[in-house]
Amino acid sequence: MSVALEGHGRLAGGLLLPGRKAQSAALPIAEAPLPVELIYPLGADAGGDPEPAVRMGETVLGDQPLVRAREGQPVLVHAASSGRVVAIEPRPVAGGEAPCIVIAVDGRDERLPCAPPDVALLRDSPALNAMLAAAGLAGLGGAGFATGAKLAAARQQGLRALLINAAECEPYLSCDDRLLRERAPEVVAGTLAMLALTGCPAAVFVLEEDTPEALAALETAIRQSSDPGVLSIVTVPTIYPSGGERQLITLVTGEQVPAEGYPPDIGYLCHNAGTAAALFAYLDTGRPLTRRIVTVTGGGVAQPRNLDVRLGTPIAELIRTCGGYRPEVARLIVGGAMTGRAVACDEVPVTRSTHGVIAATAAELGQRGEAVACIRCGECAEHCPAGLSPQLLHRATQRQDDVALDGLGLFACIECGCCDLVCPSHIPLTEQFRVAKRRVWLRAVDRERARLAEARHLARERRLTRRLAEREAALERRRRAARDPAASSAAIADILRRARRETDPGRDES
Ligand code: SF4
Ligand code: SF4
Repeated sequence: MSVALEGHGRLAGGLLLPGRKAQSAALPIAEAPLPVELIYPLGADAGGDPEPAVRMGETVLGDQPLVRAREGQPVLVHAASSGRVVAIEPRPVAGGEAPCIVIAVDGRDERLPCAPPDVALLRDSPALNAMLAAAGLAGLGGAGFATGAKLAAARQQGLRALLINAAECEPYLSCDDRLLRERAPEVVAGTLAMLALTGCPAAVFVLEEDTPEALAALETAIRQSSDPGVLSIVTVPTIYPSGGERQLITLVTGEQVPAEGYPPDIGYLCHNAGTAAALFAYLDTGRPLTRRIVTVTGGGVAQPRNLDVRLGTPIAELIRTCGGYRPEVARLIVGGAMTGRAVACDEVPVTRSTHGVIAATAAELGQRGEAVACIRCGECAEHCPAGLSPQLLHRATQRQDDVALDGLGLFACIECGCCDLVCPSHIPLTEQFRVAKRRVWLRAVDRERARLAEARHLARERRLTRRLAEREAALERRRRAARDPAASSAAIADILRRARRETDPGRDES
């Protein structure tokens, strides 16, 4: 049933990195205890600029939506337990600070009643999108795209295959590995549901070749599933970033997703294994997504392992559950070792996209030298899996040359960090590209706003000019009528006739 990848695509660039997964993958998934406070950032996973659906002091139940559903609001966020809203204020989050809804947990863990959804309704694409968004379903692999929107869009386009991504290529992370070892039947059931919802004929599970236990569990689950004939497994080499969506598709199919396009454009759809399990849980119970599995690891934590965590839990609680910090801890990273973000405090909450928390030691972080000028060695381009020229992008970011950045494919950068790691000049290339993307995006938003304002101004000018011309024409007609006695008396007669009709409708005017 499973095949090792041979003769398919080849990953351009990438790096062979030390896996460091064994420390967290050895123990089974444990449930993190109910925290004292649950914290939900607005505008992070919730997307856009959501409006809270709860007020200060309000009592909430588990599974209750915390933000309002509205146009353009991709996916709702729900309380993971019962309690009281004690703050709606800025709190630290991965990447800075954001307004958050804070719930003081009451310990009763009461939840809203619920029932499995009517699956017949999911045949309609807008309903599929809306129902899964209302259930808080978004990709758990890191990017956090709305699951319903992805499935609905792919259904419209028609698919050749669904790829279930369990190739956890970032060092340290093992949440998908443990998920498959322990809950493979749920992943398989969710995958079959995705096939049914999209009309896709087949699914391929993609695993890295160094996860034999997950592979065995998945093979058993497929054999015991309702439709093993449409499911297969492919193992890929353990090269970073083979689990990136575009890289994975190329590795498995040999085909390239166009730079400006999406996987469904060439007949493929990619979902994370955790997302498939989350879809199954929703279809089975009707409960929204309020939990995920998080790898808590690194040499700075006493007992690395994977935890089943309620969204909103501060990461300090996860570290406590894993036996606390070791004295050697030097930095806390939320996310993977390559794409994660260092955080200044452990009050940062777990969100849908938090797949890892790494308490790293100085030895694990390694020494990063002072950044110096680019020596044009070409190492970064050699290892870029997106086929970009990071050194040229670097020069364009220094000049803030948006046209050049666009031409060099800035937005095709997947922020994998390979170029940083190999750069002998220690230039923080990935961070530069992240900042440049944000700047280019904000400028585009500003340009669009200015364009809309200009269009509104022109429309108003046109309206005013038209009204002025109409008024002038009416005045001219009146002037002409005043000069022509016949027309003038006809106009007066008309005015009188209309007035009489309104004041005395029964009057005979013949
Ligand atoms: S790896 Fe660093 S020094 Fe070498 S070309 Fe790229 S940016 Fe320049
Ligand atoms: S961070 Fe971007 S530019 Fe650098 S190697 Fe990765 S994809 Fe290429």
